[in-house]
Amino acid sequence: MIGVAEAQKLVSQQARPLPAEVMPLTSAALGMVLAEDVASDLSMPPFDKALMDGYAVQSADLREGRGVVTVVEEVVAGKTPQRNLEAGEATRIMTGAPIPVGADAVVIVERTKRLDENRVQIDDRPPKPGQNILYQGREMREGEVILRAGTVLRPQELGLLASAGRTAARVHPAPKAAIVATGDELVEAVQRPGPGQIRNGNGPMLMGLVTRAGGVGRYLGIARDDASSLRTLIAEGLQSPLLILCGGVSAGKMDLVPQVLEESGVRTHFHKVDLKPGKPVFFGTRDHCLVFGLPGNPVSVVACFKLFVRPAVRKLRGMPDAGPVAGKAVLLEDFPYQSDRPTYHPAWLEKRPDGWKVRITPWFGSADLRALAQANAFVVLPAGEYVHRAGQSYEVLEW
Ligand code: AMP
Ligand code: MG
Repeated sequence: MIGVAEAQKLVSQQARPLPAEVMPLTSAALGMVLAEDVASDLSMPPFDKALMDGYAVQSADLREGRGVVTVVEEVVAGKTPQRNLEAGEATRIMTGAPIPVGADAVVIVERTKRLDENRVQIDDRPPKPGQNILYQGREMREGEVILRAGTVLRPQELGLLASAGRTAARVHPAPKAAIVATGDELVEAVQRPGPGQIRNGNGPMLMGLVTRAGGVGRYLGIARDDASSLRTLIAEGLQSPLLILCGGVSAGKMDLVPQVLEESGVRTHFHKVDLKPGKPVFFGTRDHCLVFGLPGNPVSVVACFKLFVRPAVRKLRGMPDAGPVAGKAVLLEDFPYQSDRPTYHPAWLEKRPDGWKVRITPWFGSADLRALAQANAFVVLPAGEYVHRAGQSYEVLEW
């Protein structure tokens, strides 16, 4: 049986960024990954620009920082200066306005006193040439690449792209993920389960997991534990770049999913991984569709999703790092536990002044979804060991 790391590698080898699409640069583009280099269509700022409200001056006039100069004009943002500055002159200027020709510094208004309509008294340290001026093209030059393909779009990138005149860009789209629950025992949440039945919690949970991972879930419904029911929904799901099934992948008599997938042309890359919970997890591909068969138990669904599906979703989105959010944390209490497989145990992870700490939370096994409501991470307990000691460092998988 292969281990988690090897299984993740097999997924990563099959998952490629989706073909780029042009997308409007609204907030819906947040978190998308650019699929093109973007150059600016102009220089920024487009002119030498005042960074403060005050007076544009010639620094040579104010070697001592003090003096009275003649005010020749007033320029606000959005207007252009009509007068060039001569020696002994100043222009009243507002933040964002173009600096007049001849000026080489801006003295902030707080260091000045207007004596009358035509004169201002300046009382400041000697102004340095360039003071409070952002020169043309300092931020970006026309034609200069300001964002490279592979950049993840955050609010600041949206601002930068707008400054560069872009309202749309080529990005890797969010992958659509078809979701299929399987099992003769399942009814949907609106129904009260009859004898032997349970509600389908995994369907809504998988929709949430897909959204959180950056995909777009499409719920196809419940397939029954028979080949023809499975075949129909699998055929529909294979049209998406991702197909996620849950249930029907273990060794039970009714676990038909791997067989029907194979009959549907899906090539198996792994079936069973050395982990707990989630050992029977299946991964295959057909053409450009990545197919995950997750075990039906809800905690297995979460663990396998975090370990294998989430990295795939991120990779399809073109994200630079495909790995799940893993790190190290120090165990807060001793925990006696034994397993022949590495165990992803529900836990509570928190940052304290002396670093990341993790506490084991109560858990009754892979069917106990309620345990996850009190947890925010999995702590990875290596196979074998019996008492896990407080103070030791463990790998954790944050959600
Ligand atoms: P399976 O992997 O099909 O053998 O299912 C393992 C366990 O998970 C069984 O107890 C199922 O009843 C349960 N299960 C399967 N699918 C779901 C689901 N969609 N929602 C909640 N529990 C499920
Ligand atoms: Mg089943």
